[in-house]
Amino acid sequence: MKKILVIEDEAPLRNNLAMMLRVEGYQVLSAENGQVGLDVARAEQPDLILSDVMMPVLDGHGVLRALREKPETASIPFVFLTALADRSDFRTGMNLGADDYLVKPFSRNEVLETVQARLHRQESLTQVYQEQVREAEEKAQYYLYHDPVTGLPNLMSLRENFAEVLENALGMGVGVAVVAIRPDRLDAILANLPAEEAAGLFRSLAERLGQASGEGMLTRPRYDQLLALIPSATPDATAARVLESAAQPLHVGSREIYLSCSIGVACYPEDGTDIDTLARHASLAADESILLGGNCWRRFCADKHLPRTGRIELETALLRALERDEFVLYYQPQVSLKEGRVVGMEALIRWQSPERGFVSPGEFIPAAEESGLIAPLGEWVLRSACRQAQAWRAQGYTDLRMGVNLSGRQFTHSDITALLADALAESGLPPEWLELEVTESVLMRDLDQGNAILTRLREMGVKVSLDDFGTGYSSLSYLKKLPLDTLKIDQSFVRNVHTSKQATAMVSAIARMGRDLNLHLIAEGVESPEELAILRQEDCDEIQGFYFSKPLPAPAFLELLRSGKRLG
Ligand code: C2E
Ligand code: MG
Ligand code: MG
Repeated sequence: MKKILVIEDEAPLRNNLAMMLRVEGYQVLSAENGQVGLDVARAEQPDLILSDVMMPVLDGHGVLRALREKPETASIPFVFLTALADRSDFRTGMNLGADDYLVKPFSRNEVLETVQARLHRQESLTQVYQEQVREAEEKAQYYLYHDPVTGLPNLMSLRENFAEVLENALGMGVGVAVVAIRPDRLDAILANLPAEEAAGLFRSLAERLGQASGEGMLTRPRYDQLLALIPSATPDATAARVLESAAQPLHVGSREIYLSCSIGVACYPEDGTDIDTLARHASLAADESILLGGNCWRRFCADKHLPRTGRIELETALLRALERDEFVLYYQPQVSLKEGRVVGMEALIRWQSPERGFVSPGEFIPAAEESGLIAPLGEWVLRSACRQAQAWRAQGYTDLRMGVNLSGRQFTHSDITALLADALAESGLPPEWLELEVTESVLMRDLDQGNAILTRLREMGVKVSLDDFGTGYSSLSYLKKLPLDTLKIDQSFVRNVHTSKQATAMVSAIARMGRDLNLHLIAEGVESPEELAILRQEDCDEIQGFYFSKPLPAPAFLELLRSGKRLG
């Protein structure tokens, strides 16, 4: 039953109106002045108000103004009853938001028609409003479960639908491959695309991968990653298929874009039984693909991708070791093949822990990288090495180059140039006698950024070498673009280079290419005269390895210099 409030100070008119409306089946509330009317309206939320204008305590305009101010009463239809057929009075009422006017004296029909028309209009408005609310809810529901750019399901729907995908797969007698797909160099690509096309890029990649994932489900759980759930008995083949499919050119607007992806795969049930674990593990495997230079896939491997237990203890011990000065630098000579004498050395860090004994850098450098401790540690190495080199210069050894390793984080995440400038200034070492070693894997993470940093370092006058070259990260075409001074051929190539034609051919090719690019060549890990002979034959510039000397503590290194030891 619709509820109508009549506010009128003249009792006969008020009662008359009330009776008239009750007869028509309305519920009627009445009030004898504006203030009472306002209180009743607020308490009862009527469907319609009929109100006089001129009243004691609070007039009709005052009532309307107060009602429109509060959201819960703002939309109640409001009709003025007035004897004043005065135009200015009409204007005031309409400006305040009145819906209609009934001019006294009014007939029964006029009143009922006005009331019905207002109630009807209010009903349609309410319907429109409810429709809008429903649409808004639907949209919210959609966005809660979908990625707005691609329309793909998001992590939330993935969680809700995983059981279903799994059931399907088990029904087919296979497992589920969870494949994380991350476009390589995404930021650089997006930076060069207008916003609409950036969205288009993901849409067409999603379309393409949707086809590759067949029976499965493709989702976009985060901005830079798609995740496919694919029922599969052969996850490796599935990953390879996805990789290949991602590598086909994408058509976005009028452009053709070549994209490669870094892919990680985790499998149900071996690598996890719930979707969050599987997604995380797939993502960790994709991280490794990125480190490998992208455009490849990796299976999740707990040993490799999960932090080892004891890591926390190791990190704590490292922090203490730094405070307690337990690190020392050893120096390994680098010998010129032409001159036969020591022309440089590489600083290699050593940790002599009272509790753990000797800990190899291969073990604690990764832990230091992950924990961020590499920053103070790397700074200590750089400053100490510069100081040592300058100290030896002061003793007359003025033509020795000092090599210092830079870790990935040091290279990309810190202001290496500021630290470098400071270390050089503090030690007095001329920059041309310092050579920073960066590994391929670090450079390949972001070639443009790597390039920019290398350029800045060389502008400061220091030399830069590419460490561990040949360990499978960089393609030769990349190498050509990098501003480098030196190539350090990795020991895996050097080891037993004399024993197979293939190994010899490989070193020979690298050496030829290095010469071609005007790079200085250092062979690492030379252990035998046979290896040395081949490197001589290939016109390598320098060797570093146990054959000539192991890394030595500073006093022993000075001894070696004093002895004038030469390569036989
Ligand atoms: P790297 O820069 O490639 O250093 C060469 C490694 O090969 C050193 O291992 C060295 O002792 C070893 N080596 C040299 N000649 C021979 C040889 O004839 N035979 C064999 N089997 N090995 C040889 P080390 O000192 O254990 O260092 C391992 C890696 O740890 C280094 O590889 C480098 O990547 C990292 N590292 C060492 N010191 C530092 C440092 O101060 N900072 C950073 N960021 N990394 C460091
Ligand atoms: Mg090195
Ligand atoms: Mg190396």
